[in-house]
Amino acid sequence: MILGAKHMVRMALVLVVMTSCGAAAQPAADSAVEAPAKHTSAHWTYEGEDGPENWGTLDPAYTLCVDGSAQTPINITASAESDIPDPIFAYAAGNADLVNNGHTVQAVSAAGNTLTVDGTVYTLKQLHFHAPSEHTIDGVQAAAEMHFVHQSEAGVLAVVGVLMMQGETANAVWEQYILGTTTPKDTKAQTMIDWPALLPQSHITYQYEGSLTTPPCSEGVKWMVMKDSVSLSADQIAQLNKAYTGNARPIQELGDRTLTLDTETK
Ligand SMILES: [Zn+2]
Repeated sequence: MILGAKHMVRMALVLVVMTSCGAAAQPAADSAVEAPAKHTSAHWTYEGEDGPENWGTLDPAYTLCVDGSAQTPINITASAESDIPDPIFAYAAGNADLVNNGHTVQAVSAAGNTLTVDGTVYTLKQLHFHAPSEHTIDGVQAAAEMHFVHQSEAGVLAVVGVLMMQGETANAVWEQYILGTTTPKDTKAQTMIDWPALLPQSHITYQYEGSLTTPPCSEGVKWMVMKDSVSLSADQIAQLNKAYTGNARPIQELGDRTLTLDTETK
């Protein structure tokens, strides 16, 4: 009964963890919609026993984190070039709620910002950051990565990733969000975000089918990682790291998935 005993110990650990922080459970960082209310998700972190290597065993709902076949992030490397459908952004400046969920700080978009890809309209839900970046390009990790999370009416998620590199000067258009990352945990604040100004000028993207990068690691997420990065000052990057540092999932296998670099944008 060694296996059985181990299982009991694991269950007990999960119960203890859920008792200690279950009430403060938050939606996953990448999830645009809350998990069903009947299930209180297990606590997870980016290091230690509840870290990425063990996410898949922390909660029965997290099994894709360990046995999924289309997981995110990936190392972006030699990709097939193709004139695939361009992402068409229809963003406007507006108010955003700031939510520090214990894993990152989200800027939750007001209604009306959309992304259209191949005829499907996805509504912008929220923006959040990871520091350092989750995706790497040819093995190189950026200082940070921004995720613009969208959802279609059918519930399909499309996430646009923008890599943030350290440059010489402060980036004025990103300053409001970066100031917003000082929002304390479990509190809400409001800011104004100039959404269209946040994107790089070129909208050329790497595209592939992936997952949430946080538990429950759900698959079927349309990923578009911008080829061009955005520059932040050292102080701005330090500000992100002051809020959260190391909130990046390790690289996952691409496997037999296709990674495509769009060759043209409008
Ligand atoms: Zn993310």
